Amino acid sequence: MMPKLAAFICSIGAVVLCSASASAQERPRLVVLCAVDQLATWVHALGAPFYAEDGGFRRLKNAGVTFSNCAYEHACTETGPGHATIGTGAPASLHGIVKNNWWDRDLKKLIYCVSEPASAMPDLPEGSNRGPGRLLVPTLAGSMKEHIPGCKVASVSWKDRSAILMAGKHSDVTAWIESSTGNLVSNSKWVAETPKWLAQFNASRAIDSFFGQTWDRSGPAAAYEGLVDDRPWENLHYNGSLQRTLPQVMTGGGTEIAAPYFSQVYASPFGNTMVRMAAEAAVRGMALGDDAVSDLLCVSFSATDVVGHYWGPRSVEARDALMRLDKELGLLFAFLDAEVGHDAWALFLTADHGVAPSPESELLKGASGGRGPIDTWVKSSVESALRKDFGLPTSGKYYVERVSENAVYLNTQAIADRRAAALRSASAAATRVRAVMCAYPTEDVRGDFEHSDPIRRALAFGLSKQRAGDVQFVLEPYWLNGATPASHGSPHRYDREVVAMAIGPGVRAGLESKHAITPGFGVVLLAKLLGIPKPQAAREDVPGEILQSR
Ligand SMILES: [Zn+2]
Repeated sequence: MMPKLAAFICSIGAVVLCSASASAQERPRLVVLCAVDQLATWVHALGAPFYAEDGGFRRLKNAGVTFSNCAYEHACTETGPGHATIGTGAPASLHGIVKNNWWDRDLKKLIYCVSEPASAMPDLPEGSNRGPGRLLVPTLAGSMKEHIPGCKVASVSWKDRSAILMAGKHSDVTAWIESSTGNLVSNSKWVAETPKWLAQFNASRAIDSFFGQTWDRSGPAAAYEGLVDDRPWENLHYNGSLQRTLPQVMTGGGTEIAAPYFSQVYASPFGNTMVRMAAEAAVRGMALGDDAVSDLLCVSFSATDVVGHYWGPRSVEARDALMRLDKELGLLFAFLDAEVGHDAWALFLTADHGVAPSPESELLKGASGGRGPIDTWVKSSVESALRKDFGLPTSGKYYVERVSENAVYLNTQAIADRRAAALRSASAAATRVRAVMCAYPTEDVRGDFEHSDPIRRALAFGLSKQRAGDVQFVLEPYWLNGATPASHGSPHRYDREVVAMAIGPGVRAGLESKHAITPGFGVVLLAKLLGIPKPQAAREDVPGEILQSR
């Protein structure tokens, strides 16, 4: 009856009334922005054949849309910038979260992307001094609060920056896990007192339940074929075993539950179990999706990133973390079916960045790559070049103030009267370092979003005023600064190309879309399903092919 009635109303001209009532009817009760920390397209593809029948990824593939062409525009492929894009739909050049940490020249200190003064809850003192204030543009949560009166928003992750940047300031509860105590915490930026459900979640000590459990391979044997478990560049497990293989017992190396154990949980698939349980506690505790007023849940699974960094994305540990994440997603989706209703929730899943294989594993395959104190090499090369070209600095002791996060910060007073020449010299000197592929004066790449070179375009999308060094440099593929077994942070494809999948009422089932999107597409799609405007800085549109014809 309803479609006929709607058609009749439309036919007599009440088009606005018709579309408004239709969208209210079909709106998902709950929309979910789901991030998997460090899930590169290439890593997902290697794990995909082994996902479980009842796992989350198979359901997303069969009942939703898989985007095979999703990549970040920005070069700064780190957790803070990625989650800010997922929450706002904008690249770093617009949302302003250009790195996890950036150098503040005036304060002469490194600024953490979600640091800001905020008092903690009296019962959770470890949640102090975090907030979304450095995010420059609105999130989907902001759009929903503006256009859906009464909607509720929760954001949950292990990492503070992930939970905080996905939802921004328009969140009712943003909560993360502190590894010092294993507590799920929030602070006065979001809540006046600790919500009852959150206190109950901590009181349940869910995190303690993994103590003494063994982390072993959980997937089918075929999922680990060809992977070598014991590689010299991998980290040792954090339980005193001095081993870098599975199985491992979860103790943190102690006989009692304490901070080292919580850190080991963070660096294991159980860290993702904790996030799934925290998300479920938020849905229940806040009654998300319980009525026709649509709500938002943001959830980010951090442990995949920690495992990838410690053992490398080609490790047995990383493959197992992916197999287990698949099952956690399956459980979360089944929980949403039961709590919110099958077909009453919509979800967009993506990642905050990809990852490169360990340089050593590339070398074994005959590819080039390497690691070292690259920032120090760059610093020394640039300082020598500027001294050679211009003599001793006339102001201060050094020309180079700092090198970090793929940028060189120069002593601006010392180069003030020859800035252009000094930046050219510094860029050339950085490029002469063996591990460096290219380097440019920041002002040469800023705003160059249409450049034919994808690397230069990516650099432009990663720059925000006041938060950039003087020279931007890019490492050669498979080169790493420092000793972490594997990492990300470059504009290379393995770091920018990430998983993206969507599911929900109104979304086509079983479609693989080659439509080029960024991880910021999720907020655009969810806004469309909700019938509200997309966040102000989001730039993409929803192609008709991915929507179910009604
Ligand atoms: Zn990350």
